[in-house]
Amino acid sequence: MSLEGVLNMKEKTKIKFRNTLSRKIETFAPIDGSEVKMYTCGPTVYGRAHIGNMRAYIFADVARRVLEYGGYKVKQAMNITDVGHLTSDADEGEDKLQKSAREQKTTAWEISKKYTAQFLEDASKLNIQPVHILCKATDHISEQIELIKRLEDNEFTYITSDGVYYDTSKFPRYGDLARLDVEGLQAGARIEMGEKRNKTDFALWKFSKPGEKRDMEWDSPFGKGFPGWHIECSAMSMKYLGETFDIHTGGIDHIPLHHTNEIAQSEGATGKKFVNYWLHSDFLVMSDQEKMSKSLGNVINLGTLEERGIDPLAYRYLCLGAHYRKRLLFGEEILKNASNSFDRLKRKLLELKENVGNAQFREMESPIGRKYLAKFRSEVFNDLNTPQALATMQDMLGDNSLSDVDKYGLLMDFNKVFGLGLDKIQPEKLDMDKEIQTLLEKRENARKNRDWDGADEIRNEIYNSGFVIEDTPKGPRLKKR
Ligand SMILES: [Zn+2]
Repeated sequence: MSLEGVLNMKEKTKIKFRNTLSRKIETFAPIDGSEVKMYTCGPTVYGRAHIGNMRAYIFADVARRVLEYGGYKVKQAMNITDVGHLTSDADEGEDKLQKSAREQKTTAWEISKKYTAQFLEDASKLNIQPVHILCKATDHISEQIELIKRLEDNEFTYITSDGVYYDTSKFPRYGDLARLDVEGLQAGARIEMGEKRNKTDFALWKFSKPGEKRDMEWDSPFGKGFPGWHIECSAMSMKYLGETFDIHTGGIDHIPLHHTNEIAQSEGATGKKFVNYWLHSDFLVMSDQEKMSKSLGNVINLGTLEERGIDPLAYRYLCLGAHYRKRLLFGEEILKNASNSFDRLKRKLLELKENVGNAQFREMESPIGRKYLAKFRSEVFNDLNTPQALATMQDMLGDNSLSDVDKYGLLMDFNKVFGLGLDKIQPEKLDMDKEIQTLLEKRENARKNRDWDGADEIRNEIYNSGFVIEDTPKGPRLKKR
């Protein structure tokens, strides 16, 4: 059998996900047999996303890649929250975009434009595949108003002096996703409720304050104002993926509020089940056990990593090394180790590529190769067990009974799921350790200054670090010795 034949084996692939709704591992089956409809909660674009935020998008991308690897077609939609997200989750406080606009002396529109572009750039550097439908909240105001009107017709809403609210007591399944103790919450909540009827009620539409001129506000049948945070995801996901769709992803912080409210809104309007599988990724935590967050002031974004000469894909590699439902521990040492092992992987790949040359991996008769392939597939199909799959990849690369051709073929295949850009790595693009790069530059300077002894000394130093220098007409090249 040809390798392609082996790899495309369409033996009915069973993909399993842990569904937050049931808290159980379930075998995945899409509503429409072949095309999976998947919605990913996107960023609020009032500042640059930090690497903890980006973990959730890497996870969603891996989930999509696994589905595609398993033979499904995927239609993925993601929102850009570019309006009305208040600084507090409790429908109080200042609009984050307005606040950022004020601080940067510009408008909310400019802020959202700037950080949407930044987010897409960061996502691309992390090799996150572009979604099929990228939808902005501000482009879907009428859809949100329509949905609120449906909820009004179904008697789920009431009006206070500052907005239109969802009455959660009218939705008996409220809080099921998060296993919320709604009654307990209610009992302890007499004081800060204001005009809200229930502690868990939330705004669908907020009125502009009288006399206030906002950068972003719209006319609506309820009054001039702007949508609440949650309604956009219900409106846009159902518009593009249908009233019931397959998969919804996000960070675990969305479970108790945002996703709980999305379910209440969507199911309240349609009377149908909103989403079949809810998948949530855990946080990134600093090695001192703190969650990374803007309010804690311990935020690292992709730019911070790049300034330190870290390949953004080394961060993706680090993410793959932890299961998405576990906390990802992050710190100096952890990042350095991940970066070094990713560099080793890239070097190994280039070495294999060179050895394989033009030989095509048409044949993979090797039962051992097929064993690794089967193992890899069962791991990634088992609720995205990427840490195990990475270990299998390392075992495979170190297995002397496999030919380089098979190794290279398998690595390229695994990369479809990992998305580490291994198919695009060029020898000259391989980032060298910063230290060695500096040494190489020093040697060039010494040579320019005709300091041959100095240049030789540095050559030896580089040799001792594991590299030989080949002087080519295009300049010096490093080769692992
Ligand atoms: Zn959302």
